[in-house]
Order: sequence, then structure tokens, then C-alpha cells
Amino acid sequence: MRQTQLFTKTQKEAPADEIAKNAQLLIRAGYIHKEMAGVYQLLPLGLMVVQNIKQIVRDGMRELGMNELIPTILQRKKLWVRTHRWDDETVDIWFKSELKAGGEVGLAWSHEEPLADMMKNHVASYKDLPVAIYQFQNKLRNELRAKSGIMRGREFIMKDAYSFAATEKQHSDMYERSKTVYMDIFKRLGIGDDTYVTFAAGGAFTEFSHEFQTVCEAGEDVTYIAKDKGVAINEEVIDTADLAELGVTKDELVPTKTAEVGNIFNFGRQKAEEVGLFFTDEQGEQVPVWMGSYGIGVTRLMGVLVEKFADEKGIVWPVGVAPYDVHLVGLNLDDAEIRDFADGIYSALKKRGVKVLFDDRIEARAGEKFGDADLLGMPYRVVVSKKTKEEGQFEVVDRATGEASFMSEEDLYAELTEQ
Ligand code: ATP
Ligand code: MG
Repeated sequence: MRQTQLFTKTQKEAPADEIAKNAQLLIRAGYIHKEMAGVYQLLPLGLMVVQNIKQIVRDGMRELGMNELIPTILQRKKLWVRTHRWDDETVDIWFKSELKAGGEVGLAWSHEEPLADMMKNHVASYKDLPVAIYQFQNKLRNELRAKSGIMRGREFIMKDAYSFAATEKQHSDMYERSKTVYMDIFKRLGIGDDTYVTFAAGGAFTEFSHEFQTVCEAGEDVTYIAKDKGVAINEEVIDTADLAELGVTKDELVPTKTAEVGNIFNFGRQKAEEVGLFFTDEQGEQVPVWMGSYGIGVTRLMGVLVEKFADEKGIVWPVGVAPYDVHLVGLNLDDAEIRDFADGIYSALKKRGVKVLFDDRIEARAGEKFGDADLLGMPYRVVVSKKTKEEGQFEVVDRATGEASFMSEEDLYAELTEQ
């Protein structure tokens, strides 16, 4: 991509009312646009980051044998009344609306009720189970506070999955496997070492649900972590958790600021019972389906990555999440010969499958270009200038470490195609 064609622009300042570092940087770097508090447009660069995160999550869902689909955002009131979750007293983040033709609808904040109801058309016998589905979609939540930038949106992208099983064994197999797959996802996103499977409140059948909490100063949660033992407990349940059973003592647990990047929830058979999702088991009995739900906060993750890895110069994306692998910064481009040379390097990198953003602006000064490259946060910055052409040496700077190395054109291609 040529920067002169990219629809985005860096800015010196974020909106004055934006207090979260993640949103400030993402706005300044042109990844998102603030529409209103807690509501952000994804600009092309932001969309690329989201697509990359989604792809990593999607690989995990495939590993679990889950099926992607797109449910509707408009939801029937009836379904939520039946499970006592329509009232604002029970669910305090509903957006609701009215149909011109009469009647109320809910705007999706979650999907277990409609999807469990839909499954009635697809699950009749134990032979139809187990089955699992997932989606990536915008969720709407009327959050009271929206002070954490894209980490707590009123409209945000979530991956949510739902599993349906005939037996407790099938059900807990999926639940347990999902923990491993989730941790692999977070590892690929560069936060594996800082993310903990955390005991949390809820879970109809078991005592706990499980959250995936990432150590992050800007996070809204407090998790008690015993790092060496890999045990983590949400502060909500610290007083009720049986620490001996978890193999830890209170003083091993360090209260730590964290962000919830995902969670998994075990409904047992309760949800299906409420919704009326029954099947005929091997004995010919009508019994409720075992259900689980599995969430990941896609846009929250984008915010967490910014919060965790950014430095004083700007964003630092992990490889694999960044919109481009390489920011190719062209200098002295007013000289037609250098322009041709730089174009050649750009094409050669593209041809080799390297994702390149080419700063081909002619007017911008070197300082401005380097400043933008630092702010945008691609993993590698490569300079191509008059000097590069004369000396045949390319400077490659690792954005995360700041380390610079010099290499020949050939080595440059070898180095960057290895990533
Ligand atoms: P939280 O405790 O942070 O309010 P939650 O427990 O309501 O989140 P779920 O309903 O289980 O979360 O949603 C699944 C995932 O979606 C969460 O783990 C989180 O990563 C993400 N998420 C939840 N609410 C928001 C939000 N308002 N903005 C961005 N991401 C969110
Ligand atoms: Mg939560």
C-alpha cells in the first residue's frame, strides 16, 4: 500500500475528551475515529488490525470444530422475557427499540437466548449433538461508563461461541479444550505470558466461570495472581474461593490490574431447560441440552495490545497483528532516480509476499515520516533514500526494541520474508 493512497491521516492531538491511552493513540495514528463516547469507527488501518485478530481467533475456533455464522442484531423480546433477562433491573445494559408495526425488539448485547431457541430447529436427537457455532459481530451495550476507550465500547466487536452437547462428557470436553485453544490464541497475539485463566463468578452448573485476564494497568478488573503457580482468581470471588483446593495461600496471590479479554461460561443444562431446547437421548428420553458460551473481546484486545506495548513514540504492534509487516520510508523522493529505486524495492518486497506500507510522500520531511512510522507502529521500518542507493545498505529498525541493523538488498529480502 502506498501511503499517498491510504485513507487515513495522523494527527498531533486526540479529541480533548478522550482520556484512554489506547483510544488517544489509535485516533492520532488514524486507526479509528471517535463517533461519540464509547463508539468508534474502524478506519482502514483499524479494520486491518481487527481482521488480523479475527483470523487468529478464527483459527482457534476451527481447531475446536466450531461453525461460523451471522445471527441477527434485532432480537425478540419474548425470548428474553422467558429467561427473565429482558428487564433493565436484571440486564442493565440493554438498548431496546420499538417496531413501527408495534412491539419491542432488543438490540443484541449477547446471543445465547436467540441461538439456543434457533437450535430447536436443528437438534432433535442425540445424533445431532455435539455441535458448536460462533460469530464475530458488533454488540451493543448501554454501558454507563465509557472511559476506557475501545476497551469498553457501547458498540464493539465480540467473538461469541455457543456449544450444545448431549452428555456431560461432550460438554466438558469442549469447555476444557477451549481453555487450551484460548491460551494459544492469546499467545499468538503476543500476550500469552501475561494472560491467566481466572476463576470468576457465575456458572450455572459449576461453582465458577472462567475469565481470561491479561495483566494491564488500564484494565478495569483486579485479579489475584500467583504467577509461579499459574493460579488466578477474580477479586469478586476471592472470598469464596477454596484456596487450599486451588493449591495456593492468600499471601501468594498478588492483586493485579487486569483486563478481561475473554471468558467461558458453563450453563450446564439450565439454559436449555429455560429456553425449552430438548432432545431425545439414547434411552429415548426428552432431556435438555448441555450448553456453554465462549466470548472474546476482539476490539478490547486491540486496545489491550496498544496499552501494553505502546511506548512514548506511539503504537507497537506485535508481528501478526500489525496491518503491515514493514513501513518502507522513502526519502529524497523529489529525485526521480531515487523514486524509481524506492518503487523497485517496494515492488520487490510486495512480490515476495511482505506486507508493506510505502511512505511515498514527496513533500513530507524525514522527521515527519519517522514520527509517523513510530506512531503507526509497524514491526519493521526500512529506509530507502539517496544514501541507501549509493551505499547499497538498507537500515532496518525493529520498532519494539529500537535496534537498527544494516544489510544488503538481498539480505533485506531474506530477513523480511522470514517473518
Ligand atoms: P466486562 O466484565 O468487562 O463488563 P462481560 O463479563 O460483560 O465484560 P461478556 O459479556 O462475557 O463480558 O463478553 C465477552 C467478552 O467481550 C469480554 O470478555 C470482553 O473481552 C468483551 N467485552 C465485554 N464488554 C465489552 C465492552 N463494553 N467493550 C468492549 N469489549 C467488551
Ligand atoms: Mg466480566
